Amino acid sequence: MDGFLSFLLFAVLFYVMMRFGCGAHMRHGDHPSGDANDAKHVDPVCGKNVSPSEGYGKMYADRLYRFCSRQCLDAFDAEPDRYITKQLEEKS
Ligand SMILES: [Zn+2]
Repeated sequence: MDGFLSFLLFAVLFYVMMRFGCGAHMRHGDHPSGDANDAKHVDPVCGKNVSPSEGYGKMYADRLYRFCSRQCLDAFDAEPDRYITKQLEEKS
């Protein structure tokens, strides 16, 4: 019984450490520059809004792009310049 209790204590401690340690670490690494629109990103392939907690992320040319699905990420990976140019043209 004593062994089980200490194991349980260790498991809880480990869980807490993983949860808070990892969360803080990811927050530090995810946003290198104080980007104004880091709350949501627009998928450059299909134009959907993708929140940081879902989809796929990729760093390209010092910018973080987010994609709603693996298909969009693969499409961007194949021709990144095509989608970045398209996005810039729409803005101006
Ligand atoms: Zn998409």
